[in-house]
Amino acid sequence: MILPETTPMKRLFGVLALLLALFPAPAFAAPLKVVATFSVLGDMVRQVGGDRIDLTVLVGPDGDAHTFEPSPADARLLASADLLFLNGLGFEPWLAKLAAASGTQARFVAASDGVEPLSMNEGGATVPDPHAWQDLANGAIYVRNIEAALASAAPADAKAFHENAAHLLRELADLDKWTRAEIAALPEPSRKIITTHNAFGYFGAAYGIAFLAPEGLSTDAEPSARTLARLIDQIKREHIRALFIENMSDPRFIRMISAETGASLGGKLYSDALSKPGGAAPTYQAMFRNNVPQLVAAMRQNR
Ligand code: ZN
Repeated sequence: MILPETTPMKRLFGVLALLLALFPAPAFAAPLKVVATFSVLGDMVRQVGGDRIDLTVLVGPDGDAHTFEPSPADARLLASADLLFLNGLGFEPWLAKLAAASGTQARFVAASDGVEPLSMNEGGATVPDPHAWQDLANGAIYVRNIEAALASAAPADAKAFHENAAHLLRELADLDKWTRAEIAALPEPSRKIITTHNAFGYFGAAYGIAFLAPEGLSTDAEPSARTLARLIDQIKREHIRALFIENMSDPRFIRMISAETGASLGGKLYSDALSKPGGAAPTYQAMFRNNVPQLVAAMRQNR
C-alpha cells in the first residue's frame, strides 16, 4: 500500500485525531467522587471501583451506622459527590436529612435494591431487617448494583469495573460454598446460638442457623443478677452453649454462666462494621472468615 504524501503538519493532526479517538475525553476526566454510607458497603465499592474512583466512607470501621450523627463536614462531602451508595432498608435513618442539608446533586443508589427483605422486631414494631449483606448471595446483589451504577456514571471505566466485580463475585461464591460446608459439618440439632447481636437474621436464614435472643437481657446495659438467672435457665433448657453476648463484661457473670452451664462466651463477631486495617475483619470477605469459624466452634459445644 502506497501512502499519500503528507506534510509533517498534516501527519501531526493525524496523530492527534488518532489519540483523541483512542482516548475519548472521559478517560482524562477526574475520578468519580463516590461516597458510601458505612464500612462494609464501602469495602465492596472500593473492591469494584479500584483506583478509578475517589471513595469516602461516612461511618468508618467499628462505627455504628444505626446511630450515626452526621457533621457539617459530612454535608460538605456529600455536596461534592457524584454518586452515593447507601444500604437502604432503613439502615441509614439520618441520610435524608443530611442529603437535604447538603443540597447534593449526587445520584443515590441503594445497594440492597433487588434483595428479598426479611423483617425484624425493633422496639415491639416489625420493620424491614437492613442487615442483608450477612447473606453472601445478597452481597452478590450489592456488587452487581455497585458495578452497574459505577459503569453508568463513568462509562469509560466500565471494563475495569466489570473485571473487578467479576473477580469479587467469584470470591463471594467460593466463600458461600465454604460457609455452607463449615456449617454442614455440624449436626443439625446443634445449629443454634444465643446472641444479643440482632444482625444475623439473613445469615441464619441463608445458612440454617437459629439465632435466639437471650431472654430478659437488654442489649445496652450490663445484665442484672436476675436476668442472668433467666439466661442460665434458657441455656440449660435449649441445650445451647454457643453464646455471643456483646455487653457482658463482668467476669463474675461470665464465670457463673460457665460454672452453671458449661457454656463460655464466643469471640468477637463483626456484623454492622468492619475492623480497622490490620484487625480481624478489614474487608467484607474477612468478616465472614472471622465470623464463621467462631460461630462453628461455639456451636460445636452445643449438646
Ligand atoms: Zn445493625
